[in-house]
Amino acid sequence: MSSHSSHGASPELRTRTFVDGTWHEGSPALIGPKSHAMWLGSTVFDGARWFDGVAPDLDRHSQRVNRSAEALGLKPTVAAEEIEALAREGLNGFSGETAVYIRPMYWAEGGGYMGVPADPETTRFCLCLYETPMIEPAGFSITVSPFRRPTPETMPTLAKAGCLYPNNGRAIMEAKKRGFDNALVLDMIGNVAETGTSNIFFVKDGVVYTPVPNGCFLNGITRQRVIGLLREAGREVVEKSLSVADFMDADEIFSTGNHSKVVPVQRIEGREMQPGPVYREAREAYMAFAKKAG
Ligand code: PMP
Repeated sequence: MSSHSSHGASPELRTRTFVDGTWHEGSPALIGPKSHAMWLGSTVFDGARWFDGVAPDLDRHSQRVNRSAEALGLKPTVAAEEIEALAREGLNGFSGETAVYIRPMYWAEGGGYMGVPADPETTRFCLCLYETPMIEPAGFSITVSPFRRPTPETMPTLAKAGCLYPNNGRAIMEAKKRGFDNALVLDMIGNVAETGTSNIFFVKDGVVYTPVPNGCFLNGITRQRVIGLLREAGREVVEKSLSVADFMDADEIFSTGNHSKVVPVQRIEGREMQPGPVYREAREAYMAFAKKAG
């Protein structure tokens, strides 16, 4: 899944950014050296997708970025409905031939006591839309990371915040060094949490299992959607604490996330696996939902 590198600027892929009331073509410079975001990392974001003319769960992604802002001590200045309306307005400027990544963000310009906490009164907002093709769900490989997810006591884990991602980044880099695409990251007590980029599920004897949200990882919007769709279709989905051994013994493993939706795992450690029927059921159910949701 090399497509995650496509988040960088690319001349042939279009980008539009809304900031301070205006749409700009491309990726305008927004923060200076004195910005709290540049210095101490007070950024939050969310990610949604527009493909085949649909933007599933855009309302939930817009609501979540405002919750993330509050969790980081920022002041969400744009109502969720307004973020959604802005995104739809901005999407009108795209041809629709290439899928778009929808990324609302907040950050602080100034700090409070000794400059350290973000000053909520200096919160800024931008909405960046950029062409990023959907990937073919060819599957990816995972290996258990030596790095762990922080607890809610040690990091603002309930925010989708930029400050959490250097940890995910080093987990992925370490996995790549050992020949894997992505990392399977555990929480501090050794339960499986998520991958470096997505939530994780496995299937055993027709039952779907996924880690129960315990505050140490993102309870993803795609995760919640897929659980709901599978249950509606009559499939049993169990949310509980899960170990690496549970995953090693699985019939199928797949992941969920807004970027690539539902994608199969084709190798865990030394064990090769094929995309299975429950993975296909989950992906098809998600795509059918997306088409209907608009
Ligand atoms: N976990 C991590 C670390 C992620 O980066 C993402 C995707 N942003 C997810 C899970 C999936 O969350 P969602 O379905 O809300 O995109």
